[in-house]
Amino acid sequence: MYKIVAIDGPAGSGKGTVAKILASECNLMYIDTGAMYRAVAYQTLKDNISIEEEDKIVEIAKNSKIEFVDGQTYLNGDNISKEIRTMEVTRIVSPISSIVKLREILVDLQREMAKGANVIMEGRDITTVVFPNATYKFYLDASVEERANRRYKENKEKGMDVSYDEILENIKKRDYNDMHKEVGSLTRTEDSIYIDSTNLTIDEVVEKMKNIINN
Ligand code: C5P
Repeated sequence: MYKIVAIDGPAGSGKGTVAKILASECNLMYIDTGAMYRAVAYQTLKDNISIEEEDKIVEIAKNSKIEFVDGQTYLNGDNISKEIRTMEVTRIVSPISSIVKLREILVDLQREMAKGANVIMEGRDITTVVFPNATYKFYLDASVEERANRRYKENKEKGMDVSYDEILENIKKRDYNDMHKEVGSLTRTEDSIYIDSTNLTIDEVVEKMKNIINN
């Protein structure tokens, strides 16, 4: 049986950072499902499609090839890892990811990608919809201020000029939207291991999770 480590949690809770470290330390294939929704959002912007044109957005997902190679995100052969992290994409990704048909396509793709491998997958609906029977289920959390602070620092390091207030506002909006989706809403399940990382370092979170995964 292949191992599946599923992690859900709100934006900025540290899912991506710890999943990447655990993937390399525990020899797991890392799948960033948020990047897949972001890839569709990126193409939506590029094609000048409005977020109301749901059919067109679903077509993008149907006709696109999304891949992960060496930790980079590719859309139809182009490396879009940087482009999907811009504030423009971040603003529209949550409403776009509410489109039920789009979710069906990406959930199928996520399950397909995980076939025949030991996997660590993170997102919003991994423990509930994509892999409710995952080997290990985690819910990573942190206070909204701490999460905004982390994103602010990350952006600054990347040279992106976005204010703390704008990031905090965006995270609050995304939290609300992500927790109130018709399908695939962010939910903390009873059988998920809950980790509040507000006052923990990345290493401490990784250590906690590694102990569970390795035992
Ligand atoms: O994880 P990240 O912040 O990159 O995800 C971007 C957005 O994609 C989230 O705010 C959420 O709306 C959406 N998403 C989702 N389901 C997932 C992963 C991400 O709806 N499994």
